[in-house]
Amino acid sequence: MLQTGKNKKILALTGVFLGIAMVALIVLFHTVIHKSQMLKAQEAVYNLLQVQLAIREYVHDTIRPEIYRLQDQGVMQADYFSPELMSRSYISREVLKTFLDLQGKEFSASIFRYASRSPLNLENQATAFEEQLLSKFENDEISEYCEEIVQNGQAALFYAVPLGRFDSSCLLCHSDPAIAPPSLVARYGDSHGFYRQEGQLSGLMSISIPLARFNAQCVKTSTVVAFLTALGFVAVYFMIRALLVKKDGQDLLLEQQNRELDRLSTTDPLTGLWNRLRFNHETPRYIAQAQSRKESLAMAVIDIDHFKKINDTFGHSIGDEVLKIFSAYLQEKCRKTDFLARLGGEEFVILTPAITKTELEHFCQRLLEGMIVVEYPHNLKLTASVGVALYQDGEDQSLFFSRADRAMYESKEKGRYCYTIAE
Ligand code: GH3
Ligand code: MG
Ligand code: MG
Repeated sequence: MLQTGKNKKILALTGVFLGIAMVALIVLFHTVIHKSQMLKAQEAVYNLLQVQLAIREYVHDTIRPEIYRLQDQGVMQADYFSPELMSRSYISREVLKTFLDLQGKEFSASIFRYASRSPLNLENQATAFEEQLLSKFENDEISEYCEEIVQNGQAALFYAVPLGRFDSSCLLCHSDPAIAPPSLVARYGDSHGFYRQEGQLSGLMSISIPLARFNAQCVKTSTVVAFLTALGFVAVYFMIRALLVKKDGQDLLLEQQNRELDRLSTTDPLTGLWNRLRFNHETPRYIAQAQSRKESLAMAVIDIDHFKKINDTFGHSIGDEVLKIFSAYLQEKCRKTDFLARLGGEEFVILTPAITKTELEHFCQRLLEGMIVVEYPHNLKLTASVGVALYQDGEDQSLFFSRADRAMYESKEKGRYCYTIAE
């Protein structure tokens, strides 16, 4: 588990970023896959319609001229007409039906339509929508029309293309019912499908095929792709996490080492008290705190009396021992909120916040009284001189200190083992 807040934050942000990127990528892949499936469906429909056009062309260019030739030769009756042999729409539709049946159940649900403004076969009468499409085709606004629709509650692809324009041979059947083959008039009547003109668009052809097969393929491919994408992102997440865990361990160690270094650089090795560096660092904080809380702040400078004699008489190591015992004594006299440091040599300082002048006097007295009964090696009796100052508004750290220090020197001058409160 991660320990440092910075790395925890990096991991959380990485998770959020990867999550968003993953979802965006999956959506993008799905869109691309769906689009490619729709293109496939469009291509299939387009090919179907092209085959229809080819059949129509074959009927128009090959079968019909052949029948007219047979009729001219008298092999066939001159007014013979049958949609099974001669209608382009009829023949192409029948071929398509067979084709769709061969394709299977799903495609047999396709809807194929011819639509015309004036069809011979009334089933082919254009709907309002088909009329709109016919106008667009006629004015060459579009050359094909394709859209996804819902057909019988199922998604389907609707595709429409224009048929050809009437030429002179078409008008043999579509101009005047009086000159059209009687068998055609007998089959469709003489009220519709006639009086068409050369160049007019004969109609449109449309098909809508179910998209179920294409959509199923899309879902299948999208699911696999989404799974692989998610897997990739999870792998990346865990790789980053592993790297962060490693980095976190190093960061933590570094932080501990830095803290230890900081502590060592601001601690006095002999007594374990804070040193002058820390004192210089803490004083402005104590001043700022006192000012913001509108509290008083006192500084006491304490210097052991005739310490040199101890060193000279008993040796340096006894001197060190005495310094340690005296430090522990001072520590004992301090409150939790006080700050105690060894300034160097046999000189100490205490910062004590929220204290009145009377309390300060009591504190100094107790400090002096207590130090004389502390037990030292060789039954030494140790005293110190104390100088105290109460913080004055607006004064800086060094002025505050020098007032307390001067007060301590006054105590020395007064004969030592006493305290002086700076003016
Ligand atoms: P006064 O009453 O005027 O303060 O006299 P003093 O002897 O205490 O002051 P002085 O400044 O003359 O001497 C201080 C001595 O403290 C001199 C130095 O050898 C000794 N001292 C400073 N640091 C250490 C230390 O870390 N260990 C030991 N044993 N002695 C130290
Ligand atoms: Mg001294
Ligand atoms: Mg001194």
